[in-house]
Amino acid sequence: MQKKNRGGIFIVSAPSGAGKTTLCGKLLAKDETVRPSVSYTTRLPRPGEIDGRDYSFVTERVFRAMVKRGEFVEWAEVHGNLYGTSKKRLQGLMRSGFDVILDIDVQGARQIRESLDGCVFIFILPPSMKTLRERIEKRKSNTRADIERRLRRAATEIREYKLYDYVIVNDTLKLALKSLEAVFAAERLGTQRMDARWIKENFLS
Ligand code: ADP
Ligand code: 5GP
Repeated sequence: MQKKNRGGIFIVSAPSGAGKTTLCGKLLAKDETVRPSVSYTTRLPRPGEIDGRDYSFVTERVFRAMVKRGEFVEWAEVHGNLYGTSKKRLQGLMRSGFDVILDIDVQGARQIRESLDGCVFIFILPPSMKTLRERIEKRKSNTRADIERRLRRAATEIREYKLYDYVIVNDTLKLALKSLEAVFAAERLGTQRMDARWIKENFLS
């Protein structure tokens, strides 16, 4: 059957450790019409991370050259590393009709808000700062200084929640996933997402 609505861009931001990667991973595993935009980063891979799947891991020199050539829709420095969303990758996914998830920080979200219309902005919160600390510590791949830096930054990032369309508190993973799915379901029914050509061909010609 012909597709009735167009793909959309879903921006998901959260303080580090809130569970954004876990939540988005679960959604992506369940819904094959959603694809992640794999970012470029200068950060080193964590244990288990795969180049090209989790991130494209590049040197700072390569990253800066890409910035110079205007290859990013947005890019930012986060926790001392550079991260960016490739224009080419995003356009490719959009052309194929997928809903695309951009797992990016608040600075990147700000840039997208200014340059792209019609995106859906979702902010993930932990249930408390105490839980956030526990989740970051559980991940074990961060040094003590890095953990403290991430927590300080969390407070600044959370101040931006009002700029987002939806806020999901990731307390119980199951419930948070349900909420995320509900946002996708509702947004897909938006009038602006309908394929006007499909309506015309089926009902108006
Ligand atoms: P982020 O991508 O936001 O930095 P992660 O998805 O890596 O966060 O999650 C941080 C840690 O918290 C991981 O160990 C993950 O398994 C755990 N976690 C995520 N969501 C929940 C939840 N709802 N309940 C308990 N632990 C969670
Ligand atoms: P991590 O190093 O924990 O994977 O990610 C750290 C932060 O960088 C997270 O807040 C994540 O959303 C953000 N991030 C990942 N990719 C991008 C990107 O392409 N652009 C921006 N602006 N932030 C990103």
